[in-house]
Amino acid sequence: MADPEGRMLPEVTAESRAFWTGGFEQELRIYRCQACRSWIHPPVGACWRCRSRDVGPEVASGRAKVAAYSINHHPWFPAFPPPYVVAAVELDEDPSVRLTTCLVDCDVDQVEVGMAVEVVFDEQDDVALPLFRPVMA
Ligand SMILES: [Zn+2]
Repeated sequence: MADPEGRMLPEVTAESRAFWTGGFEQELRIYRCQACRSWIHPPVGACWRCRSRDVGPEVASGRAKVAAYSINHHPWFPAFPPPYVVAAVELDEDPSVRLTTCLVDCDVDQVEVGMAVEVVFDEQDDVALPLFRPVMA
């Protein structure tokens, strides 16, 4: 679904609601298994490691590292003037948990794998999109 500016907004489900709305309270909410303590993303109703259904959102630190990225030079969406960076970031809590996001407040020439980033939220209607920016040293 595209908003009037052409940006694609996520469809919020019961399981993803905490993820998409936590940003209104400045919280990055990631599902976590209460049985084995694994972090789980995207949010689903059971832990893929131990199969427990005792899963639910917890607040993560919002700190992550760039695992992979791509610099987009094509103006796909008016809300994202090129060039912009689409990245997979791995959470500091568990590097196997990756979010696909956009990097903001950064020079596209300075992006590198392993770069420390932190979450910022871009509020759009009823969702707060988790985006990431470089951590200032
Ligand atoms: Zn588990």
